[in-house]
Amino acid sequence: MEYFLSEEQKTIKGLARRVAEERILPVRAELDESEEFPWAIMKDLADADMFRVFVPEEYEGLGGGCLELCLVVEELARVCSAVAASYAVNALGCFTLMEYGTEEQKRKYLPDIAAGKRLAAFAITEPTAGSDASNIKTTAEKVEGGYVLNGTKQFITNGGEAEIYTVMALTDKTRGARGASAILVEKDTPGFTFGKKEKKMGIRASATRELIFRNCFVPEENLIGKPGLGFIQAMRLFDKSRPGIGAQALGVAQGALEAAVDYAQQRIQFGQPIISLPVVQDILAEMAIQVEAARALVYAAARMVDSGAKKITEGSAMSKVFASDVAMKVTTDAVQICGGTGYMRDFPVEKMMRDAKITQIYEGTNQILRNAIAIELRKRKARTE
Ligand SMILES: Cc1cc2nc3c(=O)[nH]c(=O)nc-3n(C[C@H](O)[C@H](O)[C@H](O)COP(=O)(O)OP(=O)(O)OC[C@H]3O[C@@H](n4cnc5c(N)ncnc54)[C@H](O)[C@@H]3O)c2cc1C
Repeated sequence: MEYFLSEEQKTIKGLARRVAEERILPVRAELDESEEFPWAIMKDLADADMFRVFVPEEYEGLGGGCLELCLVVEELARVCSAVAASYAVNALGCFTLMEYGTEEQKRKYLPDIAAGKRLAAFAITEPTAGSDASNIKTTAEKVEGGYVLNGTKQFITNGGEAEIYTVMALTDKTRGARGASAILVEKDTPGFTFGKKEKKMGIRASATRELIFRNCFVPEENLIGKPGLGFIQAMRLFDKSRPGIGAQALGVAQGALEAAVDYAQQRIQFGQPIISLPVVQDILAEMAIQVEAARALVYAAARMVDSGAKKITEGSAMSKVFASDVAMKVTTDAVQICGGTGYMRDFPVEKMMRDAKITQIYEGTNQILRNAIAIELRKRKARTE
């Protein structure tokens, strides 16, 4: 299919594919097995200017938008979703800063992120606040010259590896979500430590940790935007970032499709390659249709985000829900096509099936996002009445 990417977009996508195939492919199984954070790959991505893609030009970035980010994430996830997640969450970690930060904050942090010198993370989830993100309990009490943070964040991607954290905390705990604010916390700030590193089903080389704040003082200038607007900022951020999760899902589905086609061409049963069997052809054709439909929706959603359109919740949620359901189905079918070999850990589709699952869960579970889509449908119906 032709998506009419610009020459620059094609170059970015091509470069991401090259890094993925040359640097990630040879080590992906090892990374999955060791569950070690892919620092060497982060360096390769930095050398290829991949962290500059989503940062504005005035802060030493390439000034790309959601689509450029999606193209990189898709290519990385085609080979390894753990790397794609570790990369993509940097954009999540600095979107709030890019959108609501002061000039001084942007100058302080964005050039280092663009150069890949410092990684970023975003923390809203807590033990009591998963789908109900408004139920956060972490507090940021106002004191002379700054804020004192107390609380625990859970399941934070790049936790322990990133140096810059955008943390949602209650600056006014009497107002619940309306008292939430986004605060930048740097690694090594006294009172900020990390809890256990999670052992996960998939994206195992990505780091997922608890963040623990105990009387952690951060200066006043680390507040991003106005106090009390943190929750709204976070919801807007997710509207813009969800096509990126769609791209991660799309990439893993594409990788699984390619692996399944290769296998089906090579595997001989009953004296012929199994790709000659109509049943196998049928499954492969359906996988290809699903992957292409996911790509069309993800790219369309990313372009919608980049257009500056205001009402993006629905389209953005659709791209994430659809692509992640496709990823789960296509990777499962890929294992089926590859039979017993597909079930083995030394064959890539087994990892892809495990890696696909998270895309249905994070940045809003698919149930929560279907709720959000239904709410938009009801609003639209109400407007036409
Ligand atoms: C590997 C990993 C990385 C993550 N990275 C980050 C990160 O970097 N930063 C961050 O802040 N968070 C992160 N998260 C958290 C993630 O966003 C949450 O796990 C997710 O939002 C779901 O919350 P939960 O796990 O508490 O599930 P719950 O909210 O407890 O949901 C459990 C089940 O109930 C369903 N459910 C709940 N409420 C409703 C409802 N109203 N309607 C219908 N169904 C409902 C859900 O769909 C789900 O099936 C990460 C999680 C994982 C697993």
